[in-house]
Amino acid sequence: MFDNYQFTASERFMRYVQVDTQSDPLSNTYPTTEKQKDLSKVLVEELKQIGVKDAQMDEYGYVYATIPSNTDKKVPVICFCSHVDTAPDASGTGVKPILHKNYEGQDIVLPGDKNQVLRKADFPYMEKLIGHDVITASGTTLLGSDDKAGVAEIMDAANFFISHPEVKHGTIKILFTPDEEVGKGTAKVDLKKLGADFGYTLDGGEAGSLEDETFSADGVQLVINGVITHPGYAKGKMMNALKIAADVLSSLPRAELSPETTEAKQGFIHPVRVDGIAEKATIDFIIRDFVTEGLKKKEDFLLSLVEMVMENYPTASFEFNVQEQYRNMKEILDQYPHVVDYAKEAISRSGLQVKMESIRGGTDGSRLSFMGLPCPNLFAGEQAIHSKLEFISVQDMNKAVETIVHIAKIWEEKS
Ligand SMILES: [Zn+2]
Repeated sequence: MFDNYQFTASERFMRYVQVDTQSDPLSNTYPTTEKQKDLSKVLVEELKQIGVKDAQMDEYGYVYATIPSNTDKKVPVICFCSHVDTAPDASGTGVKPILHKNYEGQDIVLPGDKNQVLRKADFPYMEKLIGHDVITASGTTLLGSDDKAGVAEIMDAANFFISHPEVKHGTIKILFTPDEEVGKGTAKVDLKKLGADFGYTLDGGEAGSLEDETFSADGVQLVINGVITHPGYAKGKMMNALKIAADVLSSLPRAELSPETTEAKQGFIHPVRVDGIAEKATIDFIIRDFVTEGLKKKEDFLLSLVEMVMENYPTASFEFNVQEQYRNMKEILDQYPHVVDYAKEAISRSGLQVKMESIRGGTDGSRLSFMGLPCPNLFAGEQAIHSKLEFISVQDMNKAVETIVHIAKIWEEKS
């Protein structure tokens, strides 16, 4: 099917990464940075050139497009989704992508900053890329493969579908979102307008990997109300909220239940912010677990620690507020097993080994799944993300394009 196909994903990718689309966690606008629309506009133009006629960007920077069905069968509408923004962790201005053809297994020194060295010892996946063409940044910025790899792959798949009408598929929707990296990627998404039944985000790592599981997540805000008096006459009266907060923090377990000491399927309690004066202090926590009931257990445990500390401060008081953040998408995906099964089959048809993974975090897919669009995460090839050492294989990108095409084909075959 792909024998004579000229893949365009890497060529598109090299262009897209040069458009600065960094999102901003401190902004209250939608999108959080206006410059994200610079790429969205390019994508709409290119989709129209490919022949995807209804491509459009809305006021928030979301791109919606449709590849019409070319089959007589009634096939569920599936969507491919990726995000245009890059992470605030490293600069995304002036990205200069470098194509290293036929990688031979050596360490790669990035020319813009000789201290930035891609070492196989640090990134064992590089071993698998020997013989591939590898793209890196120049050493002074991130590359932006998270998630412009996914964007470029979906664009190339769109190009493939339009230029290969003999490959049968149902209606395919394309969705590009802003602000994923600052947790607002689904804030203004219009799922009604999108009109898809099932989705796939392309925002994963190594070729063949498929993620159907994320953390479940709550936030806890602890508000400590101290008792304040003139410090000169405070004996026996003052209850200093800052000192109470310090006691709460030092009562947290270190050897377990912390991000620093957990991995794989273990959850944690993690203080992320302290704010306060002697009179009143707040501590924000994030609570994570793969099992939603596990969140409740951790919250009860945290509450018991707080109550223990507060016994030493009888006239002070506290409020303990739990807020739901997101839930493990597996709870939804298990209700529609074929969504993941078809992706597995598509990966195999692309000649790759399926590698099921769990995300120790959330994705737009977990939010979309609970908003009514069951949505596992497919590999896009991105590596060492959110850093200046980001890299990606051209061949992995092309495999992602093949996988997208196979998914659409399999949905048509099985309908
Ligand atoms: Zn991403």
